[in-house]
Amino acid sequence: MTTLFISDLHLAASQPEIGEQFVELLNGEAREAEALYILGDLFDAWPGDDDPNPYYDEMKTALRKLVDAGVPVYFMHGNRDFMIGAVFAKETGVSILADPSVVGLYGRDVLLCHGDALCTDDAHYQQIRTMTRDPDWQAMMRKKSLPERIAIAAQARQESIEHGALISDEITDVSQDTVIATLREYGIDTLLHGHTHRPAVHDVDLGERTATRIVLGDWYEQGSVVRWDESGPRLETLPRK
Ligand code: MN
Repeated sequence: MTTLFISDLHLAASQPEIGEQFVELLNGEAREAEALYILGDLFDAWPGDDDPNPYYDEMKTALRKLVDAGVPVYFMHGNRDFMIGAVFAKETGVSILADPSVVGLYGRDVLLCHGDALCTDDAHYQQIRTMTRDPDWQAMMRKKSLPERIAIAAQARQESIEHGALISDEITDVSQDTVIATLREYGIDTLLHGHTHRPAVHDVDLGERTATRIVLGDWYEQGSVVRWDESGPRLETLPRK
């Protein structure tokens, strides 16, 4: 059996073709999978589990159907949907995974993360990340009205786009030093993440050994998936019809 990994779909009602392809995956290939892992930024924005947006309902229903069909689904927060909470988990049946998490896959330990925590050359972004992952900050946000939270999310997205345009591509990518330090810290040879929208399989030279870093792509133009089975991982694209 195959375990599937995806990330960075950035689902939004304004881009229905991405959601259609996602639902197609959930109703099709994923039904035969051992498990589905979603490594963050499933949604382009998530103001809170109480948002009655019918588009979100459609996506939640599709996830629920897969879980009810007996396929475990795991979700890790991204920098766009970190406000996904316990209500979403209960409604969909999806299990929320901590970032990072180590999972055993066919005899190999793999470190999973969204990827934003590895982008340590971007000090400004890391400050925002620390703030927004603080439970007190999140509790403060949850007390705001839904329209207020939607407006704050839209503004944060705009600021993030402007910030990204000001800095170089190296800065928005992962820090090689942080990747090496993380692999050493966990004593692991395989790292799988998304976030940077730079799909690739990299060798990471740790001196005493060589590790592998697999990066999932975004779903803007086509899907991106890692299919992992007994023979190992394969990073592949999902063509859009
Ligand atoms: Mn991201």
